[in-house]
Amino acid sequence: MPLNEFIPLRYRDGARRMALALQHMDRVLIAAHAHPDGDALGSVAAAGYLLRCLGKNFFLYVTPRVPHDLSFMPLPGIQLSALDRLPFTHRSALLLDCGEPHRLGQDLAKCLPQWVTVNIDHHPGGNGMGSMDNWIEPEAAATAQLIAYVALEAGIPLEGELATAIALGLVTDTGGFRHGNTTPDMLRLTALLVENGCHLAALRDQLDNNWTLERMRLWGLLMSRVTVRRQNTIAFCSVSLKDLTVSKATKEDLEGFVEHMRKLRDVRAAALLREDAPGCCKFSLRSSGSVDVRQAAATLGGGGHRNAAGGTLHMSMHEAEESLTTALSQALESGGY
Ligand code: 5GP
Ligand code: MN
Repeated sequence: MPLNEFIPLRYRDGARRMALALQHMDRVLIAAHAHPDGDALGSVAAAGYLLRCLGKNFFLYVTPRVPHDLSFMPLPGIQLSALDRLPFTHRSALLLDCGEPHRLGQDLAKCLPQWVTVNIDHHPGGNGMGSMDNWIEPEAAATAQLIAYVALEAGIPLEGELATAIALGLVTDTGGFRHGNTTPDMLRLTALLVENGCHLAALRDQLDNNWTLERMRLWGLLMSRVTVRRQNTIAFCSVSLKDLTVSKATKEDLEGFVEHMRKLRDVRAAALLREDAPGCCKFSLRSSGSVDVRQAAATLGGGGHRNAAGGTLHMSMHEAEESLTTALSQALESGGY
């Protein structure tokens, strides 16, 4: 089967446009949102392998660093977490899995007005922040899925480390093929990766079986502290700076905890609130079915997807809990199933 037969019809124009845009770029900074998750890092890595195949100069910008949980991931080329000494002078950037400049981190956001940029993303709510071109597909399971189609359009086989990078994005953004974004298209693409030698079980093993004891202790503490509200339909948990210090755990150790809170019977929406500094906290929301936590996050200045969203609140933990409860109650009232 010709490679581009794997690109669903509705993605062909976008994939073609992006393959052309990349041909016109060189000396490219590749970046995704700060504090990358699996899709952000997988997309950045996949785009690097793609640009390498196209013979382009590039470097990866990952800020503040590659998370420890994802450090097993091979990355192509030079990786930088600061912009003060760039390996080349020309300014062009490929911005992935992110629709808003501020989520790229303030250093890069500041440079962008002077740069030629292309944006590939699957977050709903915008037309893209690229100055040269944009490809925004809210129906795509992961940004890595879109990068895979660009590679196929450019005639690049999805093998080796490129396939692993794409699989990382697909596996993590679908919650291990469990979320509503697990579509036939993305499963067909995953089948192609597996056929080409991508080892999903090994990837799962590296993602899952990698905990520190500090993380396990922290999760134990937090599990004992989860509360439920609004007739058991909202699960809530707060983590203070002190909790992290006492348990000797890091923010990264909280990754995935909010998904476990969703496991409670009757719970339709879960909120994890993390204190980052006095008066500043980050919230993570998860929901089921048509309960739209993106909308709830948006009312508080954040964003994301229908069933997974987040943001930052500049208020005390107590005030943040109240604001989140109100926003989630509204989401539950307007959500059906
Ligand atoms: P998490 O809860 O894992 O940090 O984020 C879940 C999703 O919410 C992410 O994939 C991202 O789409 C979105 N998200 C998280 N934090 C923010 C934020 O501060 N602003 C926006 N716009 N989206 C966010
Ligand atoms: Mn994503």
